[in-house]
Amino acid sequence: MSAAYIGRFAPSPTGLLHAGSLVAALASWLDARAHGGRWLVRIEDVDQARCLPGVDQLILQQLAQCGLHADDEPLYQSRRDGVYQRVLDALAQRGRAYPCTCSRREIEQTLEHLGRPRGRHGELVYPGTCRPGPGKPAVRGGLSNGPHDRIGDHGVNPASPGAPTPAPAPAPAPATRACAWRMRVPAGVLLWEDRRLGAQAQDVAAEVGDFVLQRADGYWAYQLAVTVDDVAQGVTHIVRGEDLADNTPRQIVLLHALGYPTPTYLHTPLVLGPNGEKLSKQNGAEALDLGTPMAVMTALDAAAQVLGLSTVRDLQSDRRASALAAWVSEWKARWGPA
Ligand code: GLU
Repeated sequence: MSAAYIGRFAPSPTGLLHAGSLVAALASWLDARAHGGRWLVRIEDVDQARCLPGVDQLILQQLAQCGLHADDEPLYQSRRDGVYQRVLDALAQRGRAYPCTCSRREIEQTLEHLGRPRGRHGELVYPGTCRPGPGKPAVRGGLSNGPHDRIGDHGVNPASPGAPTPAPAPAPAPATRACAWRMRVPAGVLLWEDRRLGAQAQDVAAEVGDFVLQRADGYWAYQLAVTVDDVAQGVTHIVRGEDLADNTPRQIVLLHALGYPTPTYLHTPLVLGPNGEKLSKQNGAEALDLGTPMAVMTALDAAAQVLGLSTVRDLQSDRRASALAAWVSEWKARWGPA
């Protein structure tokens, strides 16, 4: 095994795996195997309001039915509050994160007033209403921001994936209204490279604005949790669906602020539903049918074809293990290692 490669699949347990999520699972597994690396599974259950009880176990079962076995125990984001809190505190202390009390309605009104356009997908580009002056640390009331909380010091080492973290000390009740925490995004175009999509560019400040790290309801934002955990798990190669490519620059902004190197990225093609839209849990994608070995092969074969790999008919094998092995060789020929 190559110690240099760590990949991962990071499902949110808001529904079972469907044809689209299997593509990301299979691609990330194939890439890890092709590189002789490790493949980890992370359960992204930060948004407890949307997660369904027991679905994490069912997803792990679906992966096992497909022959996709992780090299370690899954990491649960819901158990990592303390780690996320320490990273947020350190960012705040360095003046890179700040509290924001704006409601959605207020942001909309400000943008209207300023005549500012929306982002690429119609999202609100935060106008910076609550942004403090440059370099001012925003210290969270009641929580220590002592020297042990600095990134790079032992206190904010997110690399303790398995260890349960103590719950953070509760912040005192806000005097007025709950606040979110936002990342101060530097101006300028961020350039990055995707192994499949090629050179990419995004002006995060102009197209997204200062993005949310912790929501006003206390839930950790996907951007913070995913970035902290990719670092904590030592992930070197991220392989996931193309719908997340747009999020990558935000995660790189965070990695830069935390002083960590960027992994390599490969965003896989999306599976489109009958209406031409990306297949997703939100638009009613059906859970995979993995009831019989034949159904498993049909599901894997469909995912392999989305990835441009041979069908099991070409492989003359409908046995799961030999099909997976053949796909690993094909993947290796196409995507490396160089
Ligand atoms: N949890 C995310 C999802 O299910 C994927 C996160 C990632 O791969 O970065 O869409």
